[in-house]
Amino acid sequence: MDAALVVLGTGGALPTARRDNTALAFRIGTGGVLIDCPGGVYTKLLRAGVDPTALDAVVLTHAHPDHVYGLVSLVHSLWMVARGAPRAPLPLYAPAAEAGRVRALLALFDLDRRAAFLDHRALPDDPGRPFWERGGHRLHAHTVDHGPPACAVRWDAPGGLRVTYSTDTRPLDALAAFGASSDLFVHEATYASGEEDLAGAGGHSTAGQAGRIAALAGARRLLLVHLGDHANPGRWIADAQREFAGPVEIPEDGAVYPLG
Ligand SMILES: [Zn+2]
Ligand SMILES: [Zn+2]
Repeated sequence: MDAALVVLGTGGALPTARRDNTALAFRIGTGGVLIDCPGGVYTKLLRAGVDPTALDAVVLTHAHPDHVYGLVSLVHSLWMVARGAPRAPLPLYAPAAEAGRVRALLALFDLDRRAAFLDHRALPDDPGRPFWERGGHRLHAHTVDHGPPACAVRWDAPGGLRVTYSTDTRPLDALAAFGASSDLFVHEATYASGEEDLAGAGGHSTAGQAGRIAALAGARRLLLVHLGDHANPGRWIADAQREFAGPVEIPEDGAVYPLG
């Protein structure tokens, strides 16, 4: 089945004219899994050839506004397009400690009652056990070091293809083991090398630290996302390349990386 990583946004918590908040879609056939839900996701999915009504699951890596604020709009759109007809349950994963916040966000707009198709589930604190599986595609979660409860996500696709997404985190060596030999290692790089103190204080990573984790993981290719609004792509890539010998890229919003 046709599969691809779709990079819906590449900006940090403060978006820019060019980069909206970071979110990904793991496209599998016409559906797939949405990873994080900032604004405009319904439109961005359509533009990327992912049918939002065919989504198999939604994963919220953590409950910071830039990762969840668009959930209300996405769920409202899915409810509208169904026009009151029953639809298949849509699993919605979030760290267990954030379940109440996610439900409260939806309840503000009465969507907890209207969107009865949502199937709230907790991301397991067990990287070895897939939390979602379909047709040989498996997702695993790994707790990261960000501040609030937050999880990295790994997508193992048939044929041994692997995509790992760090979400927001300080550099974490355990993430290299979790994402070992990833074909695509997607790591946040909110800051530049030299800004380690700022990055650490905010629970984030520098581009150099992202490169070090990708190197430790033996990744084939590194994609930098969640760029700070002050990011200079050339400098960020050079910082990462000092640590990681493989290809380093900063995707544009909407970039598609076919698997296989
Ligand atoms: Zn963020
Ligand atoms: Zn965050």
